[in-house]
Amino acid sequence: MSEWENNVRKPEPYTPGEQPKDRDIIKLNTNENPYPPAPAAAQILKDFRYADLRLYPDPQASDLVKAIADTYSVKPSQVFVGSGSDDVLSMSFLTFFASDKPVLFPEITYSFYDVWAELYGVPYEQIPLKDDLTIDPADYMKENGGIIFANPNAPTGIFMETDAVEKILSENPRSVVIVDEAYIDFGGTSCLPLIKKYDNLLVVQTFSKSRSMAGLRIGYAIGSEKLIQYLNDVKFSVNSYTMNRLTILCGAAAVKDTAYLKETAAKIIKTREHSKKALIRLGFEVTDSKANFIFVKHKTADAKKIFEELKKRRIYVRYWDKPIIKDYLRITIGTSSDMLKLYDALEEILK
Ligand SMILES: *Cc1c(COP(=O)(O)O)cnc(C)c1O
Repeated sequence: MSEWENNVRKPEPYTPGEQPKDRDIIKLNTNENPYPPAPAAAQILKDFRYADLRLYPDPQASDLVKAIADTYSVKPSQVFVGSGSDDVLSMSFLTFFASDKPVLFPEITYSFYDVWAELYGVPYEQIPLKDDLTIDPADYMKENGGIIFANPNAPTGIFMETDAVEKILSENPRSVVIVDEAYIDFGGTSCLPLIKKYDNLLVVQTFSKSRSMAGLRIGYAIGSEKLIQYLNDVKFSVNSYTMNRLTILCGAAAVKDTAYLKETAAKIIKTREHSKKALIRLGFEVTDSKANFIFVKHKTADAKKIFEELKKRRIYVRYWDKPIIKDYLRITIGTSSDMLKLYDALEEILK
């Protein structure tokens, strides 16, 4: 090791799911939406003035912020946007988790949380899930420097009802509580109405899953004006221009089309419920997922083996060689035709 390397920060990075170049792979590994984004955004792309790229974008991303605020009936000063919710969540860790008491989050959850905590030097405690893989609100009633969880949780897909979320909030007035609702549009109920009552609640959502725009990179947080102001102060201390011109315009056009969002989410929900039954017939146990993926464990067959065999057949799903979840596969809900190909492949592999 060269001497200068002693001065290098060396995080253990998050590993994103594979993004193969090949287009004919059935890609059920990163929870992308199989349907196209809202049609309104396509027109924006066509009309976009290329020459405008010479100019910096609006650092406040006001058009996008306003469109999101209108959609969720809040003030623009209650909305923060970022380059994907990963950016929003990372900024939130940096902004709100400055206590020397540990930040609490589930042991099994979005595996970026511990990466940010390590990178920013935030003390944290990972709280085990219950045996049925649910989060117990009672575990979050101890002293802490902040709380974050995904709801529905990832990769279990299990949703916690709003009254349980409120239990955590009402016991934690001294902490910022962040609820990562990346999958909320697939059958859960958002805890957004609680922001009126709790000025320490930050709700984070994304355009990547239900809005089919993972490639555009838009995430947002909604909360009290105070929380949003704090977030903006940190953002403007790191990078003023996180949202590019095209993203601001496309996002603003797409978010207004609530009907399209509901229609495509309903199709995914229908396919998901069908897929649960199909996988149970193939000998899997499935969690009660309210997300655009299912989390499954076969009664006898080895998960890693199934993962590898599916890959040979050009079907990608997600597998983690990690304690507690090493017997599970996370399978994104694709179109019904993708899913039929998956069932056929599984049947062959399990024979
Ligand atoms: C996908 C995901 C995100 C991040 O999505 P972005 O594409 O960065 O918006 C955040 N949290 C959870 C739980 C996710 O699954």
